[in-house]
Amino acid sequence: MTTLNDTLEQSRAYDPQDLWRKDKDHFIHPFTDFSVFHDQGCDLITDSEGIYVTDSHGNRFIDGIAGLWCVNVGHGRAEIGAAMAEQATRMAYFSTFNNLSNAPAAELAAKLAELAPAHLNHVFYSCGGSAANDATVRLVHYYFNRLGKPTKKRILSRKNAYHGTTYLAASLTGIESNNWDFDTLDHLVTHLSEANCYRRPEGVSEAEYCDRLVEELEETIGRLGADNIAAFIAEPIMGAGGVLMAPKGYHARMQAVCRAHDILYIADEVVTGFGRLGHFFASDAVFDTQPDIINVAKGLSSGYAPLGATLLSDELYEVLSTPQGPGGVLSTGFTYSGHPVSCAAALKNIEIIEREAICANVREVGPYLESQLKTLAHHATIGDIRGSHFMLCIENVADKTTRELLPVEARVGDRVAFEAQQRGLIIRPVGHLNIVSPPLIWDRAVVDRVVAILDRAFTAATASLE
Ligand code: PLP
Repeated sequence: MTTLNDTLEQSRAYDPQDLWRKDKDHFIHPFTDFSVFHDQGCDLITDSEGIYVTDSHGNRFIDGIAGLWCVNVGHGRAEIGAAMAEQATRMAYFSTFNNLSNAPAAELAAKLAELAPAHLNHVFYSCGGSAANDATVRLVHYYFNRLGKPTKKRILSRKNAYHGTTYLAASLTGIESNNWDFDTLDHLVTHLSEANCYRRPEGVSEAEYCDRLVEELEETIGRLGADNIAAFIAEPIMGAGGVLMAPKGYHARMQAVCRAHDILYIADEVVTGFGRLGHFFASDAVFDTQPDIINVAKGLSSGYAPLGATLLSDELYEVLSTPQGPGGVLSTGFTYSGHPVSCAAALKNIEIIEREAICANVREVGPYLESQLKTLAHHATIGDIRGSHFMLCIENVADKTTRELLPVEARVGDRVAFEAQQRGLIIRPVGHLNIVSPPLIWDRAVVDRVVAILDRAFTAATASLE
């Protein structure tokens, strides 16, 4: 009889050539430059454990990006696998429409209500971050329709924001190159300026910069009319846009303006949630905001299973849960809303974060990581090292004083990431940027190894540019 272990052993014996052929012929990779994809081949990541991932050639790397900002508790957590397997064999799936439910979905909703800011007690499940943002906008529109304010439709987002790639989430996203030759729902979204202290106008203090951004919001509301605006959506720290740091007090002031105009404040905590900044939620603990809605995904299940969630205030829930009339139902949701296996993974993930005091580790090691990364500032291409705790970014420039960028063709971010990978560390290149967003279990010794690798990687990358 074939045992589970036999099956696992067989599945470990990958044939990289065979897989590469199947991959390149049939797998359309997301966010991929196909002009170089076929020549470069792809790295097949086959195994993972703790802070490490291993490729099909047996090379082991320190994971400096937590998969994709998501494997917060680290790789290879057998107890999450066991919780998922137990749930999958006991009851892998059943509908949650109408009055049907399942144990992990109910337990997780209650746990999220306990962890979230006090007024956020209601959970709408989805399958990831884009879907959470998309579902949120539909719920917000429905909410205002139910209140008899059907013109409140527009969502204020920001340039360089990243909110995902479903149609509406892509429209909320403000990274221009992300939507090249794609269509967007421009009648529903207005993008304000990004909040980016590093690239604020010359000679303007951080406090003045904050004033200007808040004034822009007020002017925009004046121009469009508060009656036409439903919500403002913001990442506490803009992630994929380049770990952009807002000036001190920005979020709380933006929220105050929104509140004064009956505009909902949506915090997209898909990256910042579940420990990355040292707390389960950054909105209240770090940025002193009380959002009407917080969206989460990624670290919610540490990437062990696809899952997203919209956390809604009591006030919103009261309206959403009131039927439109006899027989009225809240007609939105997914086949996989509250999927039992994903929710079981999330529950075990949260148990680990709490048991191992992972948020405390981030609060302790995060500032050390930040300070050690800053010792690299002498490298010729490094213009800025920024971010907070386990969400950091290095911006490469041609000129440190003018902050002028290197030509795109120099592919400086790729060069640094390549040199780091050659030395056993995976970090993420995004254009001229290099992002470091590790699993939340790095300790000081790992930070020292990582910074030593990056030091050598920047030296090699700079030499290769000459
Ligand atoms: N929101 C933010 C802030 C993100 O960083 C991301 C993904 O990186 C998303 C939403 C989209 O999440 P997903 O890729 O799970 O759809």
